[in-house]
Amino acid sequence: MNEIDWSNLSFGYMKTDYNVRCKYANGAWGELEVHTDEQVTLHMAATCLHYGQEAFEGLKAFRGRDGKIRIFRMDENAKRLQSSCDGIAMAKLPVEKFEEAVVRAVKLNERFIPPYESGASLYIRPLLIGTSAQVGVKPAAEYEFILFVTPVGPYFKGGFQTTPFVVTRKYDRAAPLGTGIYKIGGNYAASLNAGEEAHRLGYSNVFYLDAKERKYIDECGAANFFGIKGNTYVTPKSTSILPSITNKSLMVLAEDLGLTVERRPIALEELDTFDEAGACGTAAVISPIERIDDLDNGKSYVFAKDGKPGPWCEKLYHKLRAIQYGDEPDTHGWVTVLD
Ligand SMILES: *Cc1c(COP(=O)(O)O)cnc(C)c1O
Repeated sequence: MNEIDWSNLSFGYMKTDYNVRCKYANGAWGELEVHTDEQVTLHMAATCLHYGQEAFEGLKAFRGRDGKIRIFRMDENAKRLQSSCDGIAMAKLPVEKFEEAVVRAVKLNERFIPPYESGASLYIRPLLIGTSAQVGVKPAAEYEFILFVTPVGPYFKGGFQTTPFVVTRKYDRAAPLGTGIYKIGGNYAASLNAGEEAHRLGYSNVFYLDAKERKYIDECGAANFFGIKGNTYVTPKSTSILPSITNKSLMVLAEDLGLTVERRPIALEELDTFDEAGACGTAAVISPIERIDDLDNGKSYVFAKDGKPGPWCEKLYHKLRAIQYGDEPDTHGWVTVLD
């Protein structure tokens, strides 16, 4: 194979050697299967194609300075996929089978794991779909779990940097009792226009408010929001936010570093009192927010100048990355080290 240019990887798809799959039929999951083919053959009446029975996950494996491979919190992704499956009436993959599939795919594609120095990583994308042929609107009887991996570059090419966000009142991401808490394809389809419009206006992403009152902060793009207010890490509590594993980890690290953590509804206007703000998720860990523009009200909430992230964003970002790459001890038992 041609040498991979590790320093020029983007967040895109690159073919790797193997993917891992597992089928559900007659009320039971089969054995894991290893495939080299990138194509999936589906019945044209499969429920995933018509009624959106699709859930996915995203996690990463890292090569440490010691050469060892580390996978971050895969048990959390396994459990969240189960929750998403419950949310849209799909068969749940057992946690152990999910973990076995992750380890198998990472080991089989070891040559695609970027070296430590590159700051890149191996992105792991599991997905689960309804496959039985049906026309009536009801849950499928058969399912398929597919997991592939692809190397991805460091999120911040020019170094850790802030970007601007824009508030939308034109679109809701998810309803209060809808599917926002599940990681499913349908939520993403519903978010595409809002994201594209924000990009056209020169923003990195869109800032959603709660769908009921348009008063509280919901999510920023496909990431959770957090703010720093004095010695407090504040993140929204809502029934429509996807429970981010990065946010969950940052809350623990924030406490370790001496911050108080609050999870509660955050009114948009409260942003005025925050010293720092960030979006968090697996792709970037933290994407620090430069400012949030509320164009409808001609207001701008500013958190950073000259693209420079605040001190707590810096500290939390470096702390979590250090644990993922094995540069600091994994005191919370978050990392699976492969042998
Ligand atoms: C995946 C995702 C996140 C981030 O979750 P992580 O587990 O931290 O990667 C946040 N919001 C939405 C809508 C997501 O789909």
